[in-house]
Amino acid sequence: MTFAAVVVRESEDGVRACVEEIEMEMLPDRDVTIRVLYSTLNYKDGMVMAGIGRIVRTYPHVPGVDLVGEVVESRSPLWSQGDKVIVTGFRMGEISFGGYAQYARVDASWIVPLPDRLSAFDAMALGTAGLTAMLGVMALEAHGLVPSDDATLVTGAAGGVGSVAVSLLSTLGYRVSASTGRTEEEPYLRLLGASEIVPRRELEEPSSRPLESERWNGAIDSVGGTTLARLLGQLASGSSVAAVGLAGGSSFQASVLPLLLRGVNILGIDSVMTPLELRRRAWERLALTMAPGRLADMTTTVELQSLPALGTEILKGRVRGRVVVRVSDEER
Ligand code: NDP
Repeated sequence: MTFAAVVVRESEDGVRACVEEIEMEMLPDRDVTIRVLYSTLNYKDGMVMAGIGRIVRTYPHVPGVDLVGEVVESRSPLWSQGDKVIVTGFRMGEISFGGYAQYARVDASWIVPLPDRLSAFDAMALGTAGLTAMLGVMALEAHGLVPSDDATLVTGAAGGVGSVAVSLLSTLGYRVSASTGRTEEEPYLRLLGASEIVPRRELEEPSSRPLESERWNGAIDSVGGTTLARLLGQLASGSSVAAVGLAGGSSFQASVLPLLLRGVNILGIDSVMTPLELRRRAWERLALTMAPGRLADMTTTVELQSLPALGTEILKGRVRGRVVVRVSDEER
């Protein structure tokens, strides 16, 4: 039996992703076989399809760090045929084949159940981006963030993590300031719930002062680099930033003064290896908070064939919101 998959191959000319028909035997020997219904596009998938960052060590490779689907075969007592499940992270799509194929084989311990209130489509409209945004919100709340009239900052706001973070925070009653380099996306970001738009350039230049006026009661930062350094000096006393991404750079030079004189915290978020219990709680809360309809405004749907080109676009910061990949028909 053969089925469709995006396959990344390496040659003398570099790394290239194409849609191919592959055989079941190509899948890794893991406990649970899933018929994939939907996957998504994340920044990391763009990196994998372009062969950037030494994320993939062995080719040919099937990318896709997220999937939702139906169990068709299980050697684990934890999962049975017909279960609807979500898999994200655990280095699926990086060192193991991922969700850009009509079938996937994964470890039983990577799987969370699809929450009752969430459709398979909406689960991937959220995907790793949604999980990461929710982990960021939960980390900020655990460090004292509560809704108020003060502004909470989201950087890289028109991207995947940023879009879900804006929508999530505003649904939870926070006043959201959305920082973006695409100011033409202001109507989109306001639709998602942003109260204020902050042009990216306001944050990407380093400040000569380590402590600026206290502007944010918390932040979710997808950008990293100078932006992370700059916003640290603008955080209110005792508040925190959930450091999520590196779209603007992986290293940063910053003063420790905001940490020492204002008790500001940098909270690292790693969605890939998040333990199952926390993952389940985050997905249940996403299902409760992100009612159907809130995701429609930020979601585009594509087929597997569109992925290689879209991988290039996301690396250039040109993809808005979330991309859901339709992999197999929901009804057989
Ligand atoms: P997207 O490409 O969808 O979003 C990134 C956004 O960052 C862009 O839309 C753009 O927003 C902004 N941006 C892009 N380039 C630059 C730049 N040079 N300088 C400043 N801002 C820039 O990616 P995702 O939302 O999927 O991921 C965002 C980041 O989070 C990535 O770095 C990704 O690797 C990381 N990530 C981390 C996870 C974790 O577990 N820690 C999980 C998921 C993602 P705008 O146009 O609004 O300015």
